[in-house]
Amino acid sequence: MLREDYEVIIGLEVHSELSTKTKIFCSCPTQFGAEPNTQTCPICMAMPGTLPVLNEKVVEYAVRAGLATNCKISRNSKNDRKNYFYPDLPKSYQISQFDKPLCENGYVEIETNGKKKKIRLTRIHIEEDAGKLNHDEFGGGSLVDLNRAGVPLIEIVSEPDLRSSEEVEQYLRKLKSILEYIEVSDCKMQEGSLRADVNVSVRKKGDQKLGTRTEMKNMNSFRSIVRAIEYEVDRQINVLEEGGKIEQETLRWDDVSGKTFSMRDKEDAQDYRYFPDPDLVAIKLSEEYIGDIKNSLPELPESRKERYLREYELSEKDAKLLTSSKYLSDLFENATKICNNPKSVNNWIISDISRILNETEMEPIQIPFDGNQLGKLVILIDKGTISSSIGKKVLIELFENPRDPEEIIKEKGWIQISDEGAIKEVVLKILYENPQSIADYKGGKDKALGFLVGQAMKETKGKANPQMLNKMFLEELNK
Ligand code: ADP
Ligand code: MG
Ligand code: ZN
Repeated sequence: MLREDYEVIIGLEVHSELSTKTKIFCSCPTQFGAEPNTQTCPICMAMPGTLPVLNEKVVEYAVRAGLATNCKISRNSKNDRKNYFYPDLPKSYQISQFDKPLCENGYVEIETNGKKKKIRLTRIHIEEDAGKLNHDEFGGGSLVDLNRAGVPLIEIVSEPDLRSSEEVEQYLRKLKSILEYIEVSDCKMQEGSLRADVNVSVRKKGDQKLGTRTEMKNMNSFRSIVRAIEYEVDRQINVLEEGGKIEQETLRWDDVSGKTFSMRDKEDAQDYRYFPDPDLVAIKLSEEYIGDIKNSLPELPESRKERYLREYELSEKDAKLLTSSKYLSDLFENATKICNNPKSVNNWIISDISRILNETEMEPIQIPFDGNQLGKLVILIDKGTISSSIGKKVLIELFENPRDPEEIIKEKGWIQISDEGAIKEVVLKILYENPQSIADYKGGKDKALGFLVGQAMKETKGKANPQMLNKMFLEELNK
C-alpha cells in the first residue's frame, strides 16, 4: 500500500450547542450537568397540544456565527421537521432546517505549512438537540434524560475541502476559537458542546471524481478525531488496494480499540421526510437586523493577533498562540491591565501556563485563576518581593487553589529576602562552607560564582534576591 498515491478528502459537519440561557422552543434553562429531567417542560417533553415558539436569541447567535465565518445570511428562512424515531427524541421528529438554512457559502481560513487556505462552508443552520440515553448501571435498561432536548444547536457543514487530519484539527481549532470569540458557544468538547461528524474518502492522486465516503459520528475530542481519520484512511486504502470497494456507511470510532465499526449502511439510509414545520412561522430578517449584528461583532482572532503585533510587539508565533483562544488572550489583556508588563505576562502564558495546560490536558477555559491574579503575580516579581523561581511556585498554587498571590506568599513565607544584612549572612556562610569554589573563582573559573549563588538560593529555599546575591558574592570574592 502506498499512502502517497492517494489523496485524502474530508468534510465536516460540526454541531455546536449555543449558550443561550433558554432552550430553542421553550423557556427551560440550558445549563449542563443538572439532575436528569429537571430542566424540562411540556414543550420539550413533547406533550400533545403544546406549541413551540422560536427563541429569537438562537437566530441572533446563528447569524453572528454566519457573519463571523463569511457566510451570506438568508433573509428568508424556515424550520423543517426531520422525522425519525429514537428514544431520546420525544416528538419523533427533530426541528431543523432543510432547504433554507440561515447561513450559506462562507469560509474559514486555516494555515498549513505557513500557507493560508480557505475551507468553504456550505451552510450553517439551526436545530434542536435531542435528549440523552443513560445506560442504567443496575438494571438492563436505559433511562432517558430530556434536559438536553431542545437545547439550541448550530450545524456548520463544510465542503469536502480538508486534505489531512492536521488540516481538520486546524479547522476545528479555528472554528472553536471563532465561536468562543463571538460568545455564542462555550465549545466545551468534554461536555459535548462541540462535536463533529467526520466524512472521509480517498482517491488516487489525479482522479477528478470523489471517492465513496464513510461518516464517523459525534466525535468530541481533537485526539480521537485525528486518530480516527488516520485509521479510517488506512483502512480505506487497504480495501481499495486489495481490489475491494468502499461502502458508504456510518461508522462508530472506538477509542479503546482504536478502530472503526460499522453502525449502519446505505441500505437503511433514512428518508427523513422533511417538511416545513406548520407550528412555526417563517424566519424573515431585515437588512437592518443583519447589519446591526454585523456591527456588533467583536474583534476576531485574526485582527486581535494583528493588534497584538502592533501594540505589544510580540512575536508572530506568540501572538498567534495567545489569540488562538479567547480565554488565553482575555487572560493576557486583563493581567496586562493590572501590571503593565505585557512581555512578562506573555512569557508566563506562553511558557509555564501553556505547559501546565498541556500536562494536565486542560483547556484554557478551565484555567481557575483570573487576569487580576496573574497580573499581581507579575507585579510581585517586578517589585522584587519574590524571585521568579518562587513565582513558579505561586503559579502552581494559583492552579490548585486560586487566591490573591500576596496572600499566598505571606501564608507560605515566600517573601524574597532583600535585606542586606540577611543576604550578607548567607553569603558569608556559603563562602565559609565552600573554600574550593573561592579558589576556583580566583583561579579564573567564573562558573564558580554561579555555583555559589545556587548554593545560597538552596540555603534560603529560593527566597534570596538573586541580583543582590550576585553582587555581594562578587564584592566578597574580589576583596
Ligand atoms: P449528509 O451527511 O447529510 O448526507 P452531505 O451529503 O451534504 O450530507 O455531506 C455531508 C458532509 O460530507 C459534508 O461536510 C461534505 O463536505 C462531506 N462529503 C461529501 N462528499 C464527500 C466525499 N466524497 N468525501 C469526503 N467528504 C465528503
Ligand atoms: Mg452527515
Ligand atoms: Zn422545556
